[in-house]
Amino acid sequence: MGLNVVMMGPPGAGKGTQANRFAMERGVPKISTGDILREGIRDRNPVALEAKARMDQGKLVDDATMIAIVRDRLERPDTKAGFVLDGFPRTVGQAQALDAVVEARGNGPLVIVDVTVPEAELVRRLASRQICSSCGTTADPSIAAGGTCATCGGQLVQRVDDGSKVVIERLRVYERSTRPVLDYYRGRPTFRVVDGAQSPERVAHDLGCVIDEAAAGNAKPAVGS
Ligand code: AMP
Repeated sequence: MGLNVVMMGPPGAGKGTQANRFAMERGVPKISTGDILREGIRDRNPVALEAKARMDQGKLVDDATMIAIVRDRLERPDTKAGFVLDGFPRTVGQAQALDAVVEARGNGPLVIVDVTVPEAELVRRLASRQICSSCGTTADPSIAAGGTCATCGGQLVQRVDDGSKVVIERLRVYERSTRPVLDYYRGRPTFRVVDGAQSPERVAHDLGCVIDEAAAGNAKPAVGS
């Protein structure tokens, strides 16, 4: 059985950082659709370049493009033991397409974790978030503005879509398009909630516990809900 995880949560919930950590610990790939698109833009990939205008405005890229990207990625052999999806699905259409892919793989159910954080805290976190302009890694929040990347030494910058106007649009898009995805998943025995406003260590601990317990088919009440 694979460890097939979907990390849900609004922009700024820390799900990317947590998804990275969990995926590394468990030896499965983290698949971030935002990272795939940003990497594609750096590589001048035509599909990603076409998506850039919508990304810069905080709007969603169309379902057909995103589903094709994820379907291709999940066909790679490194996903055999499972995967951690970050930033996908963001619409009910994407969630339905993912269900079809997971069913066809026949390699265990999806475990869905919703990382929750109050909106005021999200806006505060996004305003100070920095990424590396060379390798795209999200910087540790303790590094001061204008510092350098701990991974490759590149210049840290604010993400184009983390500016305050675009952040408000991204949170609005989240409420409108992605909240219904949580309703789509909520009734499943493998759906869990984790309180993302805790320390990163505590969030990582809770995530590990609820994912293991859900994957083992042990439907207990969610942590933090
Ligand atoms: P993220 O890094 O996950 O915040 O994604 C950055 C941007 O990429 C989003 O604001 C969207 O414009 C686009 N994007 C990433 N994943 C998806 C998705 N699953 N569906 C639609 N657009 C996406």
